[in-house]
Amino acid sequence: MPLSAIGPRLILRRLRQVMASPQSAQDRLDEIVRVIATNMVAEVCSVYLVRAGDILELFSTVGLNPDAVHKTSLRVGEGLIGEIAARGRPLNLADAQSHPNFAHRPETGEDIFHSLMGVPILRNGRVVGVLAVQNETHRLYIDEEVEALETVAMVLAELIASGELIDPQEVHEGTFAQGIPPQMDGITFADGLAIGHAVLHEPRLEVMQLISDDEESETARLNEAIDTLRLSIDNLIESPFMGQEGEHLEVLQTYRMFAHDRGWVRRMIEAIETGLTAEAAVQRVQAANRSRMASITDSYLRERLADLDDLSNRLIRHLMGLDVAETVVMPDDAIVIARNLGPAELMDYDRDRIRGVVLAEGSPSSHMVIVAKAMGIPVIGQVAGIVGLVDPGDRIIMDGGEGEIYLLPTADIEDVYAERIAARKLLEQAYADHRELPAITRDGVEISLNINAGLLVDMDQLERTGADGVGLFRTELPFMVSETFPRLTAQKELYEGVLAAAGDQPVTFRTLDIGSDKVVPFIEQPREENPAMGWRAVRLSLDRPALLRYQLRALIQSAGGKALNIMFPMIADLPEYLRCKEIFDREMLRHKRLGYEAPSSVQLGTMLEVPALAWQLDALLPHIDFVSIGSNDLMQFLFASDRSNSLLTGRYDLLSPAALSFFKMIIDTCDRHDTVLSVCGEAASDPLEAMSLIGLGMRNLSMPPSAIGPVKEMVRSMDLAQVRSYVTTLLHSPDHSLRSKLRDFARDHGVQL
Ligand code: PEP
Ligand code: MG
Repeated sequence: MPLSAIGPRLILRRLRQVMASPQSAQDRLDEIVRVIATNMVAEVCSVYLVRAGDILELFSTVGLNPDAVHKTSLRVGEGLIGEIAARGRPLNLADAQSHPNFAHRPETGEDIFHSLMGVPILRNGRVVGVLAVQNETHRLYIDEEVEALETVAMVLAELIASGELIDPQEVHEGTFAQGIPPQMDGITFADGLAIGHAVLHEPRLEVMQLISDDEESETARLNEAIDTLRLSIDNLIESPFMGQEGEHLEVLQTYRMFAHDRGWVRRMIEAIETGLTAEAAVQRVQAANRSRMASITDSYLRERLADLDDLSNRLIRHLMGLDVAETVVMPDDAIVIARNLGPAELMDYDRDRIRGVVLAEGSPSSHMVIVAKAMGIPVIGQVAGIVGLVDPGDRIIMDGGEGEIYLLPTADIEDVYAERIAARKLLEQAYADHRELPAITRDGVEISLNINAGLLVDMDQLERTGADGVGLFRTELPFMVSETFPRLTAQKELYEGVLAAAGDQPVTFRTLDIGSDKVVPFIEQPREENPAMGWRAVRLSLDRPALLRYQLRALIQSAGGKALNIMFPMIADLPEYLRCKEIFDREMLRHKRLGYEAPSSVQLGTMLEVPALAWQLDALLPHIDFVSIGSNDLMQFLFASDRSNSLLTGRYDLLSPAALSFFKMIIDTCDRHDTVLSVCGEAASDPLEAMSLIGLGMRNLSMPPSAIGPVKEMVRSMDLAQVRSYVTTLLHSPDHSLRSKLRDFARDHGVQL
C-alpha cells in the first residue's frame, strides 16, 4: 500500500463512524477535527466555512482558542486562510508567520504555531471552506499529507452540502467560486441581455456514498466501469452510422484516448486506496482536473480538459448504473447551459421560463439559434469549459451584445446590468413607439420589413413590431415540437390561426424544411455524412409526396377567401419547382372539385438557398411569383462552409465582394423579370448587412421580430443613393471582407447601426 493511502485510510474509516453518528452537525464537525488532528499529529486543526459575502468563519478547531469559534472571520483573500480560499489551492508553509499575507488574529492564540498546511474544501470546483492544520515546529508537510488532507476535505464538503451547518441557500449564495473567471467570453449568437439562474441541460451527478473500506471491490467496480466505458466508445466510433470523419468523430477519438490513459486510471485507483468509493475517486480526480481547467487560458487545452470532464461524468454514470438524465428543475429565469443544443431540445424548455442559452460549442447560424431568436432570447456560444464550471442554480448574467457572461456576479455588476436591461427595455419601448412609422430611406424609398415566425405565439409580434407581414413562416417548427405527425385538421387549424392572427397582412408559408439539424420524431431519417447537403426540405418532400400533399391541402383549406402565399425550400432547379407546383395544382383542383371556398389569391415562390438556382433564374422566374433568398443556407453552400460548424464561425462574410456580387446578380435578374425578391435569412436582421443589401437593390427583408426596430431605425437614417454608389464600388475589391469599410461608411454618413 503506498504511503499516501495509510493516513487518509484510517481517518476516513473514523470519519465514516462519525458521519453516521446521531450527534448534531456541529458536534460531528468538532469530532472530525479531533480525528484529523490526532491522526495527522497536528497540534491544531481548524475548519473555516465560507459564508454569504465571501467571509470565512472559523467553525471548529482543536488547538486554537475555542472561544474564537464562530467569532473569528476573514475575508476571502485575507490572510493565509483567505489566500487558500481565493486561490483554491493548498498552501504548505514551514514558517507561516513570515509569509507576507499572514494576518495576525490574537484572539485565536495561534502565535506559537509556525508551520501551516491548509487545503480548500471544494464542491463542484467551488470553495466552500478551508481545512488547515498547524504545528509549533517549523515543519514542511510532505505531499502525501497534503493529498490526505485534500481527500478529507472532499468528505467535509459533503457534510457542508447537507445544509446542516449552514442553511443550504447560504451555502449556495455564499460559495466562493475558486478559479472561475468573473467574466467569460464567447461569441454572440443571438443578441440580448439576461440575468437568471443556471440550468444544466445535462444535470450533474450527485455521488452520495463517498467512503468505503472495501478497496478491492471498489477497484473492481472501477475497472469494470472503465471497461464498459471503453467498449461503449469503441462501439460508437465503429458504428456504421458514424461515418468516416467529422468533428463528432474527433471528439470520440479524444474520448477514446483519455479512456485508455493509464495516468488517469492510476490516479483514480490511488484515490480508492485512500478509502474512497469508486464514484468518489472519479470525482476526486475530476476536481483536480477542474482546478487545472480554471487556470488554463489556452482554449484548445481547456476544451480537452472539458472532454475529460465529460468522460468522468460518463464514468460516474456507468458506476451509478444511470442511463437517463434526471429531470431538470426549472427556475422562473432559467439560463440553459449546454455543450450544444438542437432546435427541438430548445423547444422542449418552457418558453415562459427560459431567459437565455450559453453553449460551450455551437454556431451562430444553426437552427437552434434561429429558434432562440424567434423566442427572443439571447444565445452566447463557444464559451470553453462553461459546462464544468457552472453549478445548477448559479446566478448568471448574459451580455449577448458583447458575447460575455458573468458567473456569480458581484452586486456591483448586477446593478450595472439591471440598469442596462432597463435601458434596453426603454429602447425596445422606443422601437415599439416607432412601429407606426414607415420604413422609408432619407431619399424616400420604401422598404418592406417583415418578420420570420414559426409558431402561432410568434404572431403577436406582428402587431408589436408594426412589421408589414410574415416573410417566412417556418412550418417545420410545429412539426418539431409534436410527438406524432400533425394530422390534416391539426395543420389546417394552425394555419387558420396564423392567417387569422395576421388579419390583412400577408403571410408567406414555407413548406416543410425537415432534415439537416431539424429533426422530427416521427420521420426516420438516415444517418448522413453531410445532412445539410442531404435528404432535406423539398428533396424529402418530393420523395414522400404524401407529406407535401397533406400540407398543401391543409394550407389551401385554411386560406378560403384569403391570400395564400407559399414557397418551397432548397429548390435547386426549375424541374424541382415544377414537380412541387404540380402537386399544388392537383390539390387546388381537388379543393375546387369538393366545392370549398378558394383562396382569394395565390402566390407561389421558391427559396433561393442552393447557388445553382441562381443560374437558372431566367428560366424559373416566368413560372413563379416571388423569390426569397435564404442567406443562411446560401452562404454555407456558396463558401462550402458548414453553418453549424463552430470551427468555421465568422470565417467567411456575407459582406465580401464574392457574396455581394452574387446577391447583385440575383437582384438584377429578378428586377429584369419584375419578380418580387426578398431576403429571409439572418443577414436581413443585421442593420449593416441590411443596409448593404438595400444598397444593392433589395427592397424586402424578413427577419426575427427583435430586429425590426433596429433595422427600421437604420433604414430611416440611410440615404439609398449614397449607399448604392458606395457599395457598388466595392464589389470588385480584393478584400476578404468589406465589413469594416461599410461600417466606417455608415458611421461617416450618419446611418444608425
Ligand atoms: C435560410 O437558409 O436562410 C433560411 C431562411 O432557412 P433556414 O434558416 O430555416 O434553413
Ligand atoms: Mg434554409
